[in-house]
Amino acid sequence: MQETKHIILLGPPGAGKGTFSSQVKEVLPDIIHISTGDIFRENLKNETPLGLKAKSYMDEGKLVPDEITNDMVKKSLDDISDKSWVLDGYPRNLNQAEFLSTITSIDSVILLSVDHKILIKRILGRFSCPNCGEIYNKYFIKPKKKGICDKCNSKIEFKQRPDDTKETLNNRLDVYEKNTKPLIDFYKDQGLVKEIDYTNKLSEDKIKEVIF
Ligand code: ADP
Ligand code: ZN
Repeated sequence: MQETKHIILLGPPGAGKGTFSSQVKEVLPDIIHISTGDIFRENLKNETPLGLKAKSYMDEGKLVPDEITNDMVKKSLDDISDKSWVLDGYPRNLNQAEFLSTITSIDSVILLSVDHKILIKRILGRFSCPNCGEIYNKYFIKPKKKGICDKCNSKIEFKQRPDDTKETLNNRLDVYEKNTKPLIDFYKDQGLVKEIDYTNKLSEDKIKEVIF
């Protein structure tokens, strides 16, 4: 049994937080992945009250209000307080980071960095398997057999996430610059930040080294 790890993933939209998390899951299956974006999307799909509240913000690429997001994260973390987790997409501003520090301890913050031009292509080209969630990109990572998911063999086609269009992308990049980037210094001051160049996928060994 390894010790418990509480890890935050930080990086601009398109840095590969989702891809990194699914790599972690493959290498270290006991670590739980919590993505606030995924939770919101799931709620939106099921038309829950939470999803309906979040919809207009997500459509525009703006942050869902902190009260809603903080509450949702607290509920998710309460259920797994004795487990290891990677938090992806939260915190996104100082208020959320301060709230998080009142409900849990954090062991490290992994900052994924990628060249700006690549970021844009990653976002505008990305799509995922509707069945298993595996992430692809029409410029970089195509399925081995055209139209078939490598992981689960379902049929897949290029279909953008609704907020991966040029218009909302600008808002999301703005939000990152103004609200999320200050968290890098917030966590650097606590000595928690590990920066990684995530232009390419990492080896299994490198993933383990970064996590432990
Ligand atoms: P990205 O690819 O931009 O990192 P995510 O999948 O993490 O996108 O999030 C999608 C959308 O969900 C965000 O644009 C925002 O509207 C909402 N969202 C996700 N996480 C948060 C958060 N921590 N606080 C506020 N809104 C959030
Ligand atoms: Zn699949």
